[in-house]
Amino acid sequence: MKNFKFAYILPAIALFASCAKDNPNDLDELNGTDSSIKASNEEMVEVASPEPGPVTEVFYAGQKIPVEEVGGNYVYQGDIILSPDMVTHEEVKLVYEKDEVPSGNKSVGRTSGRWPDNTVYYAIESGLDNKSRVYEAIKHWEANTNLKFVERTSQSSYIYFVTGSGCSSYVGRVGGRQNITLSSSCSTGNTIHEIGHAVGLWHEQSRVDRDQYITIHYDNIQSGREFNFHTYSAQGMDGDEFTSTLDFGSIMMYGAYSFSSNGKPTITTKNGGTYSVQRSRLSTGDKTGINNMYPYQGGETTTTPETYVNGEYYTIEGLTVLRFYNGWYYLGPYGMRAVELRNGIWYYK
Ligand SMILES: [Zn+2]
Repeated sequence: MKNFKFAYILPAIALFASCAKDNPNDLDELNGTDSSIKASNEEMVEVASPEPGPVTEVFYAGQKIPVEEVGGNYVYQGDIILSPDMVTHEEVKLVYEKDEVPSGNKSVGRTSGRWPDNTVYYAIESGLDNKSRVYEAIKHWEANTNLKFVERTSQSSYIYFVTGSGCSSYVGRVGGRQNITLSSSCSTGNTIHEIGHAVGLWHEQSRVDRDQYITIHYDNIQSGREFNFHTYSAQGMDGDEFTSTLDFGSIMMYGAYSFSSNGKPTITTKNGGTYSVQRSRLSTGDKTGINNMYPYQGGETTTTPETYVNGEYYTIEGLTVLRFYNGWYYLGPYGMRAVELRNGIWYYK
């Protein structure tokens, strides 16, 4: 299992959303397979449902986050469906005391989310309309990354492209069947975006360093939508910080006017400007990040052992830990303490 490492001292990943649209007709503007980069300031955003659900708070990867309840699912940031196995209503321990016997908690934060052997299995609902957008999106992913997509035969873990009320996906490989929902409004570009979630990407503006690049204008956000700009410390999640800067061209980046109440931007660059987003293709930065997550695997299947650098942070089995003096340290509620990994579970030493 390969885990990503944080390049930053503070592991807090600030995630915020800018996904939802109330009017489903607006999403129709996003339809089509136009391969050109769309004009500036158009919102090309994905939502699980045109009608937002009631907001509730759950624990995910050890943290309390606001989510919408949509169709029996917990949806985070508009189009990210949280795996039920990773959601609890009570806080879950990520580190146990030395001699403590772990309780039967769910495996919160303990999935790596990667697809083994760079291979993503999938199936398509027979009734899904415009299947060509799925094939086009897969073709794009295969042409630009080391991932290959194989139609599922008997594999138990696979993506299922299915009709839904909007565009949505889980983040990373969840285990078992995991839906990517596509309404008729979801374009090929939206499908490329949702596949990005399914292979492990969060939204581009979730980067830990996003505040170096963008400003959020809370005064312009629709009342009641502020929760979508909630910040989230992404313990144990894959898909962050694989490139050196925030990439406005990323297919995972959201628009400057998302959730605007007054026609003014909710997100701007640091100098106050707006920016264009696109839903046509993986950007150069997207490709770089994905290829770091899923490196080319040559003819040999030997895996190189992970080398850990003292002084750097890594996220392993759901916990962000510091490598120091060839041991592991975790900054928890009781300060920095030495921890060790036994059978996939972290314990204080
Ligand atoms: Zn998304």
